[in-house]
Amino acid sequence: MKRVRKGLLFTIVVLLVLLVVATGAFAAPKRVLIVVMDQMHPEYAKQYNMTNVLWLMNNGANFQNAIVGDMASETVVSHNVMVSGMLPKNQGWSDEAFRDTGGVLSAAYPARTTDMYVTGDLGYSDFAALVAAGGYKKLGTYLHEATPGSTVACVGEKSYQVRSMTAGSSDFGVFLGSTKNATNGGDPALISLLGGAYRAPGGAPSTGAVPTYITGDTRFTINSDPNNDYGTLTTSPAWIYPEDGDRMVPGYIEGHLGGDNWVADATMAIMKNTAGTANDWSGLFVNFGAIDKSGHMWGGGEADNLKTYNWDPNNWLDNMTHESFIAKNADNQLGRLIGTLKALGEFKDTLIVVTADHGSTAATRHFYGNDAQGAGDFNWYWGNSATDGDYYATPVAEMSPAIQTLLGNSTVGGNISFSYQSTGIETWLKSFTMPEKKAAAKVMRTVPGVIATYVKADDGSAYILDSAKTKTKMTAAEKGWWKSHAQMLVNTMAWSGSADVVGLLADRTSYGAFGDHGGAQKDVQRVPMIFYNPSLMTAQRGAEIHTVDIMPTVMKAMGIAVDPAAKIMDGKAYMLATK
Ligand SMILES: [Zn+2]
Repeated sequence: MKRVRKGLLFTIVVLLVLLVVATGAFAAPKRVLIVVMDQMHPEYAKQYNMTNVLWLMNNGANFQNAIVGDMASETVVSHNVMVSGMLPKNQGWSDEAFRDTGGVLSAAYPARTTDMYVTGDLGYSDFAALVAAGGYKKLGTYLHEATPGSTVACVGEKSYQVRSMTAGSSDFGVFLGSTKNATNGGDPALISLLGGAYRAPGGAPSTGAVPTYITGDTRFTINSDPNNDYGTLTTSPAWIYPEDGDRMVPGYIEGHLGGDNWVADATMAIMKNTAGTANDWSGLFVNFGAIDKSGHMWGGGEADNLKTYNWDPNNWLDNMTHESFIAKNADNQLGRLIGTLKALGEFKDTLIVVTADHGSTAATRHFYGNDAQGAGDFNWYWGNSATDGDYYATPVAEMSPAIQTLLGNSTVGGNISFSYQSTGIETWLKSFTMPEKKAAAKVMRTVPGVIATYVKADDGSAYILDSAKTKTKMTAAEKGWWKSHAQMLVNTMAWSGSADVVGLLADRTSYGAFGDHGGAQKDVQRVPMIFYNPSLMTAQRGAEIHTVDIMPTVMKAMGIAVDPAAKIMDGKAYMLATK
């Protein structure tokens, strides 16, 4: 009898285990929420007491040595890398400017005088055309196949971020549309209600694609009056890239909070309105853009401190343009998303990814742009673009003296078609034979802050080191990072449309805004990277994961097989151990 009962007990235990497995206690997550904390350094989690990020770091799979892993380290590049698994060189654009060598956009801009494009000016259809020409399959398409009829959407403050990420795969994207005021068709009632110029939701592919529970709710219309600048318009260095009403801060207008609060509310509206319907969401890609705005203005991190800027640590609302407030607020908004997942019963089946699209470096050593009101765009861009004619072609004499070293050079200045400078300098030439590229690189070696120069191989497949013995000497720390990472990083943007000549910049050096990104510096490259689901093992991982690895890793965790007919992804899948 005893033996029989033991056997019976064993059988019952086995059946119970099988039942637990079959009922999905450890089932793979069926949704993915990617939250991009724009420009967030991993250190911010502790520095600004971001308790939700810290909880995820301590309870999820936390990659402590994650880096962007590609160039240019910019918003409009990184977001599509994350949801395509393709490196910048293979996604159709690799920088905030590119040469449309394939003529993908030529029909859309018949009056153009150049084939140089600035991504910030592109519409949804332009990004969709570039993605289609790239021939790759994005995460949204896989999610739609895994859960037919499900909703995949992108949310963020910035149009170019949302358009590029949505393009060719997600159902819709929602961002803050263009500014409306009394002279361009603004609604007088909304101008009165919000105290000036305002922004209503805009969308990708078009505003009409955004559900009416967002476009029809005036909660999502916010103040965006340039006069509502929180002092940033008249204070250096923030005035280089000042606030624009409540676009990137919550503001004081009850019921119409802007910035990351707006992004969280729009995301929660999608969660709540699709829950339990045939169109229940399977992918939400969210950008919290406020950390980035503050970082550009004041430098972020150690640069944005009480001693330097005399802000009041006990009065958060008055200090809302500063990192200390805005990073904590971004974390609070992440907490609201997690709370909504729990309230809807979706927490267990959602894979949460928290990361950043790039870090930043503060120009505390050298700021080489013009430190003047609204100087940002003219510091960053120089040249003609197909979308804006000569909007970016500031007279060379009005550019900062540092970049005039290159643009105004008597030998190569006349051959420069376009130059983009942030924490790296990328330059496109009108005529780009190897001798011409080398001549420009030789001048680039003398440009202030440049620590290494590269020319693009004639077949476009790689960058060739021109010199690491430039006018600006590398520090020992810079040299270590440069040796282990620089060649790999510049090569990720090598294709026919990328810059002909590249200058990498020293740490704590910038040409665009006071806090900036775009280059290969360690501070600019390092990002947080956390994957969380209750079924995953808690793990502090040392592997140097890159943003291009996010999509294959997410697919593996969700049990979605790679389509053998699709273009092979550049990223690799990391195995996330399950409990
Ligand atoms: Zn960004």
